Amino acid sequence: MQRAGLAWRREGLRVGLVPTMGYLHEGHLSLVQVARRRIGPQGRVVVSLYVNPTQFAPTEDLAKYPRDLKRDYALCRAAGVDAIFLPSDAVMYPGKAEGLYSTYVVEEQLTRGMEGSARPTHFRGVTTIVAKLFNCVLPEVAVFGAKDWQQAAVISRMAVDLNFPLKVVVAPTRREPDGLALSSRNTFLNAAEREQALVLSEALAACRRAVQKAPVKAAELKRAVARRVKTRPLARLDYVEFFDPKTLVPAEEVHRGTQMALAVFVGQTRLIDNGCL
Ligand code: AMP
Repeated sequence: MQRAGLAWRREGLRVGLVPTMGYLHEGHLSLVQVARRRIGPQGRVVVSLYVNPTQFAPTEDLAKYPRDLKRDYALCRAAGVDAIFLPSDAVMYPGKAEGLYSTYVVEEQLTRGMEGSARPTHFRGVTTIVAKLFNCVLPEVAVFGAKDWQQAAVISRMAVDLNFPLKVVVAPTRREPDGLALSSRNTFLNAAEREQALVLSEALAACRRAVQKAPVKAAELKRAVARRVKTRPLARLDYVEFFDPKTLVPAEEVHRGTQMALAVFVGQTRLIDNGCL
């Protein structure tokens, strides 16, 4: 991959990267379109497919994370992807089995709340793997989804802080017609859970309505979201947060333009969503 990336650079071809964990859906493919638009028809769009073990805690769903490489290949081909990067664990974490692998990338500020506190080792895995993907593919544009708002903010920060010679682009969240954000994990939901998973986008819509006329205290909105989630017996609120979309600093008063994010277990499946109010 790195040889190809270097060769493309020498030839003056622009390279765009879309990092994914595979089991692709329209959300991922929309990032491919954004990458293509950014680098032009002559450029090279690379999709990486890698379920990164270091961003999963031992208790999480690494082993059962959905995988379907054949389908991913077909979707990439149809979407005009030029190359798929499918690294092995041995390539991404050399020497790990022998206990030699020992270098990680850590962002220390934006990772403190939300996903960072709910999943304490998660972002260290994310920043490490994304830095490594940047070094392997050598893209000049890398596209991430707004669906993972905090992740996009952390990676944008990392790219600036570590002088990666590339632009991080954040593309909008793609949703099902009823509002559920597309996610590879939606495949785990049974019919009843799929129904109740709508509580995430409904909570976003309700909070958006609540702040249209005047600011509302975050604590009040959090209680309202908790009550709403409680009405769905299969759903359990992990967190809901209101914050500045750029700095991620929590807001006490919520107004139009405040960002909201929430994580909800629906059955065994943990879903996240976010949006600008
Ligand atoms: P994942 O495979 O879940 O790690 O996601 C890979 C990339 O796709 C990340 O940048 C995600 O933010 C992005 N992504 C996931 N779901 C969506 C969605 N529904 N809309 C837009 N981007 C998404």
